[in-house]
Amino acid sequence: MASESIDITGRTRLVGVFGWPVEHSLSPPMQNAAIRALGLDWVYIPAAVAPGSLAAALAGAEAMGFVGVNLTIPHKTTALDLLTEIDDLARIIGAVNTVKFEGDGRRVGYNTDAYGFTQTIMSEADLLIGGQTVLILGGGGAGRGMAAGAAMEGARKVILANRTRERSEEIARALEPHFPETRFEVVQYSEPSLRNAAGRSQIIANATSLGLRPGDPLPIPANCLEAGHVVFDSVYTPPETPLLKAAKAAGAVCVGGLGMLARQGAKSLSIWSGLQPDEDLMLTTLHRRVRERMAAG
Ligand code: NAP
Repeated sequence: MASESIDITGRTRLVGVFGWPVEHSLSPPMQNAAIRALGLDWVYIPAAVAPGSLAAALAGAEAMGFVGVNLTIPHKTTALDLLTEIDDLARIIGAVNTVKFEGDGRRVGYNTDAYGFTQTIMSEADLLIGGQTVLILGGGGAGRGMAAGAAMEGARKVILANRTRERSEEIARALEPHFPETRFEVVQYSEPSLRNAAGRSQIIANATSLGLRPGDPLPIPANCLEAGHVVFDSVYTPPETPLLKAAKAAGAVCVGGLGMLARQGAKSLSIWSGLQPDEDLMLTTLHRRVRERMAAG
């Protein structure tokens, strides 16, 4: 599309995403749209960085004058040992998804996933997280970031349920000392416990990978969902996941994962540039790309 052409010159600065694999990343079109709208002479590129090559890739990017990079699977935790400074929230979560090269060898790590989750709930469901009970399904990197984000926003209680219960217990142990105002509770990932937990929660957030593949079971039985719930799904392909369809049928407020992807990206771009990116433009770009991909099969 002509309006998306980029004029790269010797003055153009680079930002990008390192992952393995990275070919399906939606961040380049989203970030480049926002970069153009801000009038920055920057380009955002994807780079396939193999496990074990992150140290070399970061050194190379720094040497080439990159402004910063996003990190995705499998680099978010490995990066912790390769940075000179780590923002408090990223340290608590134990994962970095944004690196800023500050010059003179200073590499600062941040985590913007928690912001992406909480801002998406608050703006799309029009609900403050402070004082609410949030049920997080899943205990991987996304679940940990979302639990920390909910606590950071002052959730009264965060209930954690994961197939591998020990991972939920570890998240609760890690977050409790940092968020004394929030109670953390771990429940069994089974129907009676999930029903009881859902009945006590205002927000139910899926951070499992269930919903990515056709035929996946729902991450929580449909009959646990009620009209009073806000149901968030971190899975965003398809944008209306089976969980969100079930939530809609129950009359709940539905919030999709593309908003989280857009807002974590906007926060990264704001860390790098000091400017306020157009989050709506980033979200619209994502929706368009996902529609194009689905149409292409
Ligand atoms: P991860 O670390 O690999 O964790 C995967 C989670 O899914 C674990 O809690 C795992 O449970 C659970 N799980 C997998 N298969 C399951 C099954 N059959 N039944 C029940 N639970 C199952 O991945 P992640 O990085 O946390 O990502 C999780 C999801 O969030 C992915 O779908 C990812 O695309 C999405 N995500 C979205 C955004 C966004 O911006 N929207 C950002 C980050 C991630 P066990 O611990 O028992 O294995």
